[in-house]
Amino acid sequence: MQDKTKFYINGAWVVPHSADTLQVINPSTEEVVATITLGDAVDLDSAVTAATNAAVEWSQTSVDTRRELLQKLLDIYKARMAEMGQVISGEMGAPISLAQTAQAGAGFGHLRQTIKALESFSFEVEVPKKEGVDHVFYEPVGVVGLITPWNWPMNQVMLKVAPALAAGCVVVLKPSELAPLSSMLLADMIHEAGFPSGVFNLVNGDGAGVGSGLSRHPDVHAISFTGSTRAGRLIMSAASETVKPVCLELGGKGANLIFADADEKAVSRGVRQCFLNSGQSCNAPTRMLVEASIYDSAVEQAVAMASKTTVGQSSEEGRHIGPVASEAQFNKIQELIQKGIDEGANLKIGGVGRPDGVDRGYFVKPTVFADVTPDMTIFKEEIFGPVLSIVPFNDEDHAIRLANDTPYGLTNYVQTSDSDRAKRLARQLRSGMVEVNGELLSPATPFGGVGLSGIGREGGVWGLEEFLYPKAVSGI
Ligand code: NAD
Repeated sequence: MQDKTKFYINGAWVVPHSADTLQVINPSTEEVVATITLGDAVDLDSAVTAATNAAVEWSQTSVDTRRELLQKLLDIYKARMAEMGQVISGEMGAPISLAQTAQAGAGFGHLRQTIKALESFSFEVEVPKKEGVDHVFYEPVGVVGLITPWNWPMNQVMLKVAPALAAGCVVVLKPSELAPLSSMLLADMIHEAGFPSGVFNLVNGDGAGVGSGLSRHPDVHAISFTGSTRAGRLIMSAASETVKPVCLELGGKGANLIFADADEKAVSRGVRQCFLNSGQSCNAPTRMLVEASIYDSAVEQAVAMASKTTVGQSSEEGRHIGPVASEAQFNKIQELIQKGIDEGANLKIGGVGRPDGVDRGYFVKPTVFADVTPDMTIFKEEIFGPVLSIVPFNDEDHAIRLANDTPYGLTNYVQTSDSDRAKRLARQLRSGMVEVNGELLSPATPFGGVGLSGIGREGGVWGLEEFLYPKAVSGI
């Protein structure tokens, strides 16, 4: 068991003021991986003070200086990517193959993309007027609080840390208390890259303590948060006391619209995407909407795909899915599966309880429900487990109505060989992103949602702009 009780403040690992500790649990084995400290107001103040003291100098560094430091960090991250994958796998349960590729790789990809965005970004633009020009300077917002979840830890942390530093902001990061170890490894890398003291700080803690303290702190100028809609609302309300801008990446209930003319792999691809990372992705296509004429065959294909989906230890290599991240998540998913059954959805495979032969770890059976209707809880609520709901539709209008029948709006998916229809749907689906025929969006595009899925965008130049404010200047 590792002792990870220190915080990274002002360029060094320091002993916290708080004595309150929490154990980080490996979700496959239920064994303790490490002990961390849950910080208190004194710890948070130390981090905010360190950031504040570093803010002016860092904000005035040249773009070249920041780019060079981020490039150094990228080189270090690349060299230690396998180690990063190992840490992620141990703390949140992603199978090692997924953790070392997609999970750790997402952090690498976003850092590389931020460097590219920084190289092309215009921090100063001219606005012509009747005589001469005015100027708009893009200024760093200052001290930023970053609060992140456990499901894709380095993806979400890097989508915030890299653009914040690139923009010239100083950072206090509070990673998820369930998966803090990957962020602590990143802090080591930032240290090794040689960022000035105080520019990046990390304080562990829970939502009610450090998370809420950061959101209402008078010396923190903006908050960027990824996680549940529940916490997003609380953060927005806490941040309103000091009128801070908030960027919120929240939950989702993505629809995957499969038309009769879709390619033959559309259903199995949709099931795989839904079960990826044990269903713990905010952009998972959890509602599979299928045109009535191919509905029965789609249900059959989905069940076949689910029966081929194996569940296994996160330490083992392979394409299996791992456990979900915590006991609380396991229990929540079990309750929602039971609700699906009680409310009359047609359980085709999976169901409540651990997979056969498993008596330890937070493992969930890959589960498929057919004949799900919009009034059912599993149609409405984000489950965050390997649970797919299949719903028939009659025509395009019906499909759009079903897809948009949710307060969320993160990613929707369309499968059709008719490109005009794909375009029409992409326009009419109410979501921040639409993926057509399995083509992944690049990290250079904006990531974010509408409605209960949040406010703001991450990734590429949009991610950079979240940490800048435009200042209009005349007479120069
Ligand atoms: P959560 O939102 O409670 O936790 C995410 C982060 O927010 C953690 O760092 C946590 O400490 C912090 N936090 C919690 N309450 C806070 C508060 N009041 N003020 C400031 N920070 C706070 O997520 P969870 O409870 O671990 O998961 C619950 C559900 O959230 C999941 O079932 C899933 O539906 C959703 N979720 C979504 C995402 C996403 O990427 N959209 C990620 C994780 C969880």
